[in-house]
Amino acid sequence: MKSPWPKNAKVAVTLTFDFDAESGWLSRDPALAERPGIMSQGHYGPKVGVDRILNVLKAEKLPATFFIPGWVAEKYPAESKRIRDAGYEIGHHGYLHERATPDNPEGERQAFAQGMRALDAVLGVKPAGYRAPAWDLTPITLACVKQHRMTYSSNLMDDVFPYVHPGTSIVELPVQWTLDDAPYFMFNPLVLNRPMNTAEAIYGVWRDEFLAMYEWGGLFNLTCHPEVIGHGSRMLMLRKLLRFMKAKKGVWFTTCRAVAEHWLTQSR
Ligand code: ZN
Repeated sequence: MKSPWPKNAKVAVTLTFDFDAESGWLSRDPALAERPGIMSQGHYGPKVGVDRILNVLKAEKLPATFFIPGWVAEKYPAESKRIRDAGYEIGHHGYLHERATPDNPEGERQAFAQGMRALDAVLGVKPAGYRAPAWDLTPITLACVKQHRMTYSSNLMDDVFPYVHPGTSIVELPVQWTLDDAPYFMFNPLVLNRPMNTAEAIYGVWRDEFLAMYEWGGLFNLTCHPEVIGHGSRMLMLRKLLRFMKAKKGVWFTTCRAVAEHWLTQSR
């Protein structure tokens, strides 16, 4: 099969980080704002996780995309600017990490626009792509993406290659729960009481997903969260995975934006 990637690369790798901070918990239940213990799990992201991730990316010399809710950019401007100033792509991730629902299109439009305004006001960034909180779209979400003249959506789970949404020039960069840190590691005994995994076990899952994409020639689109992956054993695991992937020949490490722009030139 002919490679769809530049320089005949065998696989494209996008490392993405959804910088949710406390908003991931608040979108589950706004009343959690009154629970400092639970909020501290989100606060770990801006306080520790972001810089740990930036350090590893810098040391390994790899690009990445950070999706930042507008509320997080406003609450944590210094951390958000460090991400921007280190040269990483910044994408749109809602305002307060709202889970959009089909019964409230006006609320979704407003949150979408508010998130865009916040990224512009705090960071001077006009994002090229949208990742919905929890990847959950409604029938109007892609119309918002189009209206705000964005290039890509990274939300749907129905392919291993990018594709162009019919009738638009919006590129979809597919995701999957298997390549997300949250379902394996995000835990709270009161709110999210489920088994946690060891970093070593998930290393095996992600390494083998990468090897499969290396064989299939697809997109390895990893989603992590500073407040989740940013803990000790998980950061060592992430670094080990990055080094494993770097040791393979023909891996295109890039940003979501670059994949989307490349795909548009391919599909013309
Ligand atoms: Zn998120």
